[in-house]
Amino acid sequence: MHINLPEAYQPIIVLHYHEVGLKGKNRAFFERLLVKNVNRALSGLGNPFTRRLRGRFIVEGVSAEAMSEAVARLQKVFGLATIGVGVETPADLEAMSRAAVALVAGTEIPSFAVRARRAEKHYPFTSQDIGRVVGGAIVKATGAPVNLRQPAVEVFVEVANERAFIYTARLPGPGGLPVGASGRGVVLFSAGIDSPVAAWRMMKRGMEVVLLHFHSQPFADRSSEEKSRRLAAILAEWHGPIELVIVPLIDAQQAIIAYAPEPYRTILYRRMMLRVAERVARARRAHALITGDSLGQVASQTIENLVAITEATSMLVLRPLIGFDKAEIIAEAQRIGTYEISILPQDDACTLLDPRQVETRATVEDTRRAEAGLDVEALADETFAQATSEWIEPAWWPSKQPVHSQ
Ligand code: ATP
Ligand code: MG
Repeated sequence: MHINLPEAYQPIIVLHYHEVGLKGKNRAFFERLLVKNVNRALSGLGNPFTRRLRGRFIVEGVSAEAMSEAVARLQKVFGLATIGVGVETPADLEAMSRAAVALVAGTEIPSFAVRARRAEKHYPFTSQDIGRVVGGAIVKATGAPVNLRQPAVEVFVEVANERAFIYTARLPGPGGLPVGASGRGVVLFSAGIDSPVAAWRMMKRGMEVVLLHFHSQPFADRSSEEKSRRLAAILAEWHGPIELVIVPLIDAQQAIIAYAPEPYRTILYRRMMLRVAERVARARRAHALITGDSLGQVASQTIENLVAITEATSMLVLRPLIGFDKAEIIAEAQRIGTYEISILPQDDACTLLDPRQVETRATVEDTRRAEAGLDVEALADETFAQATSEWIEPAWWPSKQPVHSQ
């Protein structure tokens, strides 16, 4: 993205967020969190300083050279509605006009419109005055005509607290709520296509997530574990440093293979995963478990089996993709950037661990009976005891910086 920034000015970034439903204490919390996430996303890019100004944020201290990287990162900060890049001036018509002309100078503009807004009403000029005077200056400098309906270029002028913020480059933010606004969840993170998308969906609604990956080494190789790390690094660009918990499931799987009827294996693996996930959630004070299940997609995802699986935990299990088609999930994985990694081959040791015959209509009663020969709580404890944890950082994370967790 090319952003034209006049050299005589300090570049600034204007961030807008949706304020719907934000009131009182909740609003202050939301704004503080969003500022924190904005600053985190700009780590290592100069000396960014973010201030809150009447329902918007102004970021200073990012150099013109670092600006397109800054914008790319901000487009992954949930809670932001728009990102504008431009300059700041005193709130007088002459200074605003000069800055607006400097912003459009040197670019070919077929037509333009000035979009003006005042946060307070006490100024000696109205929004219409800004449009007229600043617009007039641009016509004079460039000869470009005003077109309010379908301008080729929009010149945004926002006046607040005796300052004016002027920008022509405005990009969409990702929307949603700032990560951390909606508690914490543990994502059952398989390195397939679905669970990274499920994690992203919950992050977009403001949930901080801990990723939990189970592998079957040494029956399977390390490919799924490596994929889970690479996928976590992509999600970290949206989340900030993210905790990845890795758990060998093979002991529990072998006990299930030895003591449970074959068609129930997959259901019992999943129940074991939920029990271990519950322990991780307790250790991390998480509120919910998250899976990438989509109704009917595979045998373990019939409604009967989902009921039989979920019965293993009393925690809330969220399945954000339950109503999505595979094609929709794939399209979203491509947009997020996880798809290419998710489809890399991985060794699940299916032929050794998966049943030849699968129960697709399990009942809770039969499932409990299938599990009767196992001490499932002890197995879950032993499996949880083998968990290891690491922090996965986004590629741009400055390595010297300590990771802050809560
Ligand atoms: P995915 O694309 O996420 O792997 P899937 O379509 O392959 O999903 P399943 O393999 O039945 O479907 O898994 C359903 C859900 O169970 C996954 O989305 C994930 O949340 C969880 N899950 C499955 N395998 C693992 C694993 N090895 N580690 C952690 N979670 C898992
Ligand atoms: Mg899978």
